Order: sequence, then structure tokens, then C-alpha cells
Amino acid sequence: MTHMADTPTIRHVALVGNPNCGKTTLFNALTGLRQKVGNYPGVTVEKKEGIMSSNDGPDIIVLDLPGTYSLIASSPDEMVVAEVLLGHIKHTPLPDAVICVVDASNLERNLYLVSQIIDHGLPTIVALNMIDLAEASGVTIDIRKLSDALGVPVIPTVAKKNKGTDALRRALHKGLTPSSRTMLWRVPDAVHKELDELSGLLSARHRFSPAAAHHEALMLLSSPKPLDTGHANIDPEIRAHVLQDYQKLDFLGVDRFSVFIEARYRWVKEVCASAVSPSLRTGASTSDKVDAVLTHKVWGVVIFFALMSFMFQMIFSWAELPMNLIGSGFASLSAAVGSALPPGDFHDLMINGVISGVGAVVTFLPQILLLFFFLSLLEDSGYMARAAYVMDRIMSSVGLHGKSFIPMLSSFACAIPGIMATRTIENPKDRLVTILVSPLMSCSARLPVYALMIAAFIPPLSVFGVFSLPGIVLIALFATGMLAALAMAWTFKKTLLKGISLPFLMELPPYKMPSLKSTGIHMWERGFIFLKKAGTIILGISIMLWFLATYPKADHGSSSDKLAYSFVGRAGKFIEPAIVPLGFDWKIGIGLLSSLLQREVFVSTMGTIYNIEDGNTGSMRQAMQRDVNPVTGRPAFTALTAVCIMVYYVLAMQCLSTLVVVRRETNSWKWPMFQFAYMSVLAYVVTFAVYRVGLMLGY
Ligand code: GDP
Ligand code: MG
Repeated sequence: MTHMADTPTIRHVALVGNPNCGKTTLFNALTGLRQKVGNYPGVTVEKKEGIMSSNDGPDIIVLDLPGTYSLIASSPDEMVVAEVLLGHIKHTPLPDAVICVVDASNLERNLYLVSQIIDHGLPTIVALNMIDLAEASGVTIDIRKLSDALGVPVIPTVAKKNKGTDALRRALHKGLTPSSRTMLWRVPDAVHKELDELSGLLSARHRFSPAAAHHEALMLLSSPKPLDTGHANIDPEIRAHVLQDYQKLDFLGVDRFSVFIEARYRWVKEVCASAVSPSLRTGASTSDKVDAVLTHKVWGVVIFFALMSFMFQMIFSWAELPMNLIGSGFASLSAAVGSALPPGDFHDLMINGVISGVGAVVTFLPQILLLFFFLSLLEDSGYMARAAYVMDRIMSSVGLHGKSFIPMLSSFACAIPGIMATRTIENPKDRLVTILVSPLMSCSARLPVYALMIAAFIPPLSVFGVFSLPGIVLIALFATGMLAALAMAWTFKKTLLKGISLPFLMELPPYKMPSLKSTGIHMWERGFIFLKKAGTIILGISIMLWFLATYPKADHGSSSDKLAYSFVGRAGKFIEPAIVPLGFDWKIGIGLLSSLLQREVFVSTMGTIYNIEDGNTGSMRQAMQRDVNPVTGRPAFTALTAVCIMVYYVLAMQCLSTLVVVRRETNSWKWPMFQFAYMSVLAYVVTFAVYRVGLMLGY
């Protein structure tokens, strides 16, 4: 037994653990509502603190740290954990103790981090959480043996049910000591010698604490990156020493990156073998069997693309009826308002500006809801993580790994959450590449543009009996965006942002039955955002556009002449020479201009200008189909024009909100400006090529 009498009182304690091990649940159980949320200085990582009170002793400040798999890592979240445990962060005192939260049903994976934390030398206690799940799956953990092997107290908890939290509180008040069993993992002697030498040198030169010196030495020795990145303020003498070490270890044939990881895992396996029965990996569970298919080299990819195709087909076919209903709703509204108002500008503003502009966009609500319905099912069931796993191979062929695919998949909904999800990517270059290409994935704001063009110009033929041509075109558009994203990622990795990707461990969360409630909430939230945009920004732009498309008024001439005479008509005519090579006329030019900062405005713009032009007879779809180019006498819109417009919208960066988020995430305007530029050029060049090829083929 250790002498508890001389252990110092604990004032600050940090909760550390893998993602999803129940840290936040335990944090809430310990601190109740006495919480404060902020940010760590200089980074976008959330800092969460709370106060734990109990009858056994004074208040203790508890810090809920971000989930991490390793301390030797470099994603912003994980870096914060390592820095906090070294006391290197301003206004965050070095914790007096660490509560290591461990998912008992996943002990082996979780103990990896525990071994690193023990090595840090802070007083530690292990909260063996989710013990209910471990027991339910027939696993027994010998608490005493585990505690002996780790050299720290182990307390079983079920954070969700507030079980074991009192024992945890009592243990904290009694005081903790650092583990006596640090550095039990074994690497070859030569490697160990270099590690010790380097940490000695670091504590001498930089006056690092032993823990900090050891941590830094490990970081340096296992760094797969060249020394000049990420270790900016290293003493030149140490730099030289490390470079020598690299040569020595390379000469010995030691893989610097994996040697420490493997050593630690060997130790973890031994600990598990002694404390856990039956051993965790006996027999394949149902979930393992399902995974064998869903993450299969070939079938996994086939299933992924089949699911995506099904999703887009369904978005199209299920949305048709509700869309027609909404459309006719707006038509009757327009008729009612039209007959109630006396003829004049106000009448026209209401009919052509407000109702057709907003109506054109709102009609697409059913498709948006369906998209989020499917995405939410894929996410909640646990399939998304499998998709990322399957795509790891494809992603690595462009120099990224599967982790980058999750942000890209979320970008199907919207690039903004996608870009925020890149925070989990360790390698800063990989993260930047993912940020740069994510907006190429077709987001929900493009859907109305695609749907409008497809409905008007792609005939609803059936293909092989099961597919419909519109559905196939939609799939092709999403696939084009994805291919463009992969191609650009490859290009950036080869040129601008060269670098190696680290191997990584991907976690496959358990399968879950998606709850209808959470899917419903998700659809409601996204639908509400969409409608709110239609009622505010799009309404405003539609009204403004109506004015600009009505004034100055020409006294005579056809309605097309009058539009051409107006402000937007002139703007469209002004840019027309630049877009004629893409097969676009000045009216499409108006749409391109008005949707420069928000893509779906294209649809409301078409609604407004075609209603003005047409003197509001019939639907805008028909008006677009009937529109004739006065010079050639041919239809202004052909199927080829429609395809060109869609290709342009797949590739162009028309979203101010995304650019603002990219600025925030990269801390400069340089990258969003670069992104805007490269996507615009890409959109222009590819659309031009598609138009030329289309003409050559005789469309
Ligand atoms: P964090 O990512 O570590 O902060 O994990 P959370 O606290 O968000 O918990 C992840 C999930 O595990 C939540 O759904 C919790 O309700 C659940 N959970 C937490 N503790 C336990 C536990 O002891 N037993 C079980 N069965 N579930 C738990
Ligand atoms: Mg949490």
C-alpha cells in the first residue's frame, strides 16, 4: 500500500479518454449543472470545466478534455490533451490528478491511451466505465488484477446510471499517487537508449520536466515527418542529435513510427490476458459478420455505390408528388393574389418577385427533407463509418485516408459541417486538402438547381426497367462532384501540399437502430433552415431582383426586350461575351450573377425573370422550354444547355458561408480565395469542354 497521508489534496482533476467512452456523461454526473464552456486560447477546441462538490471534502474543479486515442498525435483536439497534461496551456493549471475514463467493453483499445497517461507520471485513477455493457457481452474483468497491472486504482462505473461515481469522489478526496508501473513496454535496447539520451538532453537544454522531456523525445523519435515541420523551436544541437538518431535507427532497420506503438500494444495485450476473461476476441459477433460484408474489399464498394444510387433515385421519385402539390399551391396563391390586387407595379412585384421567387425555391423542400432523411439514417445506423472504412483504399490512392471521407460525405448535406468535421484529421496538410475539396461534393443547395434543370429538360425515360433517366442524371452529377473532389485532392497532394499520410486506426462504432425521433428532429432542423432562408435571404434577393429586372422600364418592345433594357438585363448582356463559349445566354448570365454567393438563388432568379418575361402565364418550366434565342431562332435552352448549367453548378464555388467558414478554420483569407479561384476556373474550363464535346456530338 502507498501512504495516503502524504498525498497532496486534489484541486484540479482532468477527465481523459477515447472518444465515446462516456467522459462527458461522467463529467455531468460528477459536476451536475455547475459547468462553464469556453475555448482554449488560439485554437478552436472547446474547453469544458465544472465544479464537483461532495460531503467528503472540498470542491474540485473537473476538466472534460476532448476525446483522444493517443497523446503522441497531432490533431488540434489531441494536441490540447497532451499540452494540458504537461501544464503547457495558459490559464489551465497542470491537473493534480487524472481520471482516465475507459470503455470496459473495448478495454484493449482503451488501455493504449491509459499506458501513455501513466507514463506521464501524474496521479491517476481509472474509471472503468460501461461495465454494464462489458458484463452484458459476457466479459468479466478482474478489477484487482487490472489495478495491480496498471499500478493505479480502478473503479468500475456506469456513468449513465450514476453508478460508481460516489466511489470515484471518495477516491479523489483520499488522494492519489502516480503509478509505480510506468514505462513497462519494451522496445529494443538500442531504441531505448536513444530515447533516454534524448530526454536527458531535452531536460538539460530546455529545462523540461521529466514527463515533458519524455513526451517530446517520443514525439521527435516517432515523428514520420521531417524535423523542420511542427518542431519549430528546437535547439540546433538537439536537432542535430535527433537527425543522428534517425540515421542510427534507420540503419538498424527500426521503423521509428511503429516501434513504440507496437511495443505499447504488446504490453496492453499482456495486461488484458491477465485481467480479462474470457479474452475479448473470442468468436465473431453478429456485428463482425455484418462488417465482413459491408467493409469487404469488393462488396463493400459495390454496396456503398448501390446505396448511394438508391438514395438519389428515391429522392427524385418520392419527392415528385409533394413537389407538385407545393407547386400547385403556389400557383393558386399566385392566382388569388393576382385577382385581388389591382394591376400595376405592386401586383407584379407580388406575383413575379415574391411568389414566384420564393415559390421556386420552396418547391424543393421535399427533396431536401428526403436527402436529410437518408443521410441521417446512414449516420445513425453506424453505416457512415463503414463507408469511410471502405473508401480508405480509394482515398489512399489520392494520398488521403478514410478519415477525410467522412467530412466529404457530410458535405453531401452541406460543406459547412463537412469542413468543421475536418478537425479530427491529424495531418494539417491532409486537413487543408480535405477542406479545399469538400465543397466539390454536391450539397443540398445544388439540389434545387439540378432538379429544376432535370425536370425541364431531361425526359423521364426508363432505363433497364428499374432506373429512370432523371435519376441517373442526378447520380451522375453527384458522382461528377465526387470524382472532381478526388482528382483535385490528388492534384493538391502532388503539388501544393506534398506530404505523407500517417497510417491510422479507424473506429467502427456499434450498429444501432436509427431512432425515428432523432431522424425526425434532424429533418425538421434542416427543413426549417431551408425555409428560413427562403423566407429571408431569398425573399429579399427576389424583391431586389424584381426591381432590377423591371427598371428602368422600356416603353415598347417585347417582354424580352424590356428585360434586356433593365438593370439586370444590362448586367447579363455585359457578361454574355464571357459565357457564350459555355453555351449560356444573357438570361442564364443573370442567374449566374445573382447566385454568385448562394447557389439556390439561381432557381428563384429564373422564377422571377421568366415570370416577368412571360407575363406570368404557365409555369416557369414551360417558359424556359419555350424560350427562343432571337438570333438563331432555336430554343434558348436545350438539353445540352441544361447539362452545361448543371456541370457548372457541380464545380463552381458559389457559397459565401462556406468561404467564411474556411477562413475561420484556416485562419486566413488566403485559402478561401484560392478555393474560390480554383473552383471557378475548374467550372469554367470543364463546362466549356462539355459544351464543345456536346456540339461535336450534334446536340
Ligand atoms: P464522450 O465522447 O467520452 O464524452 O462520451 P459520452 O459521455 O458522450 O457518452 C457516449 C455514449 O455512451 C452516450 O450515449 C452515453 O449515454 C453512453 N454511456 C455513457 N456511459 C455509459 C455507461 O456506463 N453505460 C452505458 N451503457 N452507456 C454509457
Ligand atoms: Mg464528450
